[in-house]
Amino acid sequence: MVISGKELAASLKRDMAAQVATFEEKYGRVPHLTVVLVGDNPASVSYVTGKSKASAEVGIKNTTIRKDASISEEELLQLIDNLNNDNSVDGILIQLPLPAHIDENKVIAAINPAKDVDGFHPANVAGLWLKQPCVLPCTPKGIIKLLKKAGVEIAGKNAVVIGRSNIVGLPVSKLLLNENATVTIAHSRTHNLAEVARSADILVVAIGKPRFVTADMVKEGAAVIDVGVNRDPESGRLCGDTDFAAIEPKASVITPVPGGVGPMTICCLMENTIECFLAQRGKIR
Ligand code: NAP
Repeated sequence: MVISGKELAASLKRDMAAQVATFEEKYGRVPHLTVVLVGDNPASVSYVTGKSKASAEVGIKNTTIRKDASISEEELLQLIDNLNNDNSVDGILIQLPLPAHIDENKVIAAINPAKDVDGFHPANVAGLWLKQPCVLPCTPKGIIKLLKKAGVEIAGKNAVVIGRSNIVGLPVSKLLLNENATVTIAHSRTHNLAEVARSADILVVAIGKPRFVTADMVKEGAAVIDVGVNRDPESGRLCGDTDFAAIEPKASVITPVPGGVGPMTICCLMENTIECFLAQRGKIR
C-alpha cells in the first residue's frame, strides 16, 4: 500500500480550515505565521511559496519577509526580536539554510520557543526528549501521523531510523520510542547497514542519497517511510532515498517521493501555528 501524504495532508488541512474559520469570532483574529527568507536559494524560495500556499488553504495569515543574503547576523537577530515582541505574530519560521556568515544555532535560539513553529529551539528539543509540553518538529510529527493513518502498529515493533540529523533522524527516533517501538538509529558509521535495516518492522530513511536503500535491505512486510528529497542523477526528477519501484512490492506500506512525507511536513507546520496561537490564548497544546 502506498501511503499518500498528499491526500492525508489535504484532509487534515480541510479540518484545520474548518477550525480556523471559527477563530475570528472566538478570538478576534486568525493565527499569523511569519516566514523569514534570507537570500534567493531556489529550493528555499519554493519551500516558502509552499508554506504561503498552505497557509492560504487553511485560512492562516502568512507574511513572508524577504531579506538580502547580505543581511548581518545582528540585523537578523534584531528582526527576530521584533517578531518575538509583536503580539500579532503567533509563529516565526526562519527558512534554513542561512548564508554562511550567519550562525544558525544563534538564530534558532533567538526565536521565542512559544512561537518556534519549526520546533528547532533548544527548549522545544529538550521538551521532546523530556516528554514535556513543546512544539514538535514538523517532519517527524508528520511521519508518525502517516504511520498511524496507514494503520501501522508501532508499539513493540522494531523501528530502524537511518540518519541522525537534529531535524529528522533524532526527533523521529524519539517519537517512535514514545510510541513504544524499540528503536535503532543507524548512520554513516553503522556496520552491516543492510542487516540492521532488514531487522526493521518500520524503516525510516533520512539520508539524502538517491535510491540508496535497495530492496535487499528491506524485510518482507516492513513499513517504509522515505524522507529523502533528491534529484535523480539520470532523469533529474525528484526521488527519495529508497528504490521505490523495487521495494513497493515487498513493503506492507511505503511513502512515495514526491507526495509522501513532504506534504505532511507543511501540514504539520500549519498545525503547529494553530497550536502556538491557541497556547498563547491559554488553550492547552
Ligand atoms: P543530513 O543532516 O545530511 O543527515 C543525513 C544523515 O544520513 C546523517 O545522519 C548521516 O550519517 C546519514 N548518512 C549519510 N550517508 C549514509 C550512509 N551511507 N549510510 C548510512 N547513513 C548515512 O540530512 P537531513 O536533514 O536529515 O535530511 C535527510 C534527507 O531528508 C534529505 O534528502 C532532505 O532533503 C530530506 N528532508 C525531507 C524533508 C521533508 O519534509 N520531506 C524534511 C527534511 C529533510 P552521519 O550522521 O554519520 O553523517
